[in-house]
Amino acid sequence: MKCIFCKHVSDDSKSVEHIIPESLGNTKNVLPRCVVCDKCNNYFSRKIEQPLLEQLFFKNLRGRNWIESKKGKIPPEEIMYIGAKEKAILHRNEKGTPKMILDIHDQNFFQKIFTGQKKELIFPFEIERPEANNRTIARFLGKIGVEALAQKWVGHVGWEEYHISHEGLDLLRNYVRYNTPNIEWPYSVRKIYGENEQFRISHNDNQENLDVLYEYDFLMEQVGIDLYETYICVAIKGYEFVLNVAGPEISGYIDWLKRNNNISPLYLKKNNKENPILPSDNFLPGQK
Ligand SMILES: [Zn+2]
Repeated sequence: MKCIFCKHVSDDSKSVEHIIPESLGNTKNVLPRCVVCDKCNNYFSRKIEQPLLEQLFFKNLRGRNWIESKKGKIPPEEIMYIGAKEKAILHRNEKGTPKMILDIHDQNFFQKIFTGQKKELIFPFEIERPEANNRTIARFLGKIGVEALAQKWVGHVGWEEYHISHEGLDLLRNYVRYNTPNIEWPYSVRKIYGENEQFRISHNDNQENLDVLYEYDFLMEQVGIDLYETYICVAIKGYEFVLNVAGPEISGYIDWLKRNNNISPLYLKKNNKENPILPSDNFLPGQK
């Protein structure tokens, strides 16, 4: 068997590849071993996922939502209270026994709060947004795109050969795996629902109210006879990211949105948000 990124023989690879990082709560969506070789798996973890999860948006998102890393840790959340001169750091322990500790750096500011000189403590909830033009995010989305195609095709006769010899994927493969060429690969990012919005979701044969941690699917847009643009659409806690798998161009998606009343492709098959389309169990069980 060959790796879908570097195309080297991967038969002795031991690790399974998580399409969405484990530290973003993914335990279900994995590719079987050998689909992505150990070397590529390790590279993605060090050069794409770790830097991504260190970005303030993802770090604070994981903190606020108590999303544990694969080692069971919840990253500290950095909070800039309005009027304070330095950030406060909110530490959370593991889910079992919720406990929060606020590490205050601007003593002066909090002294005024405690003594009543200052009467309001404004918490700037959701002040940070994911970056709209960031190479790590683009490469992260590209990695999901290449891997989600493999996930779709796995099991079909000759799928590996079809995926690996598909020249249309080589530009993105190289961009993700080798960080070349030095071009910008634009993506679309916008908010499609609130971070803690709840949905009626079929779960364990029941309909339950749950919030969605992440979801992803493809949008295939016909642009000519037998010619399709393929977009990978990923939503993480209500933020939708879309990247064109075939080339560094996003204008086709922006046009598609205009023609489709800005609906998210993730909700295309349903006319309301009652039933988000989930590729599998891609949600964080929330409160009822
Ligand atoms: Zn590889």
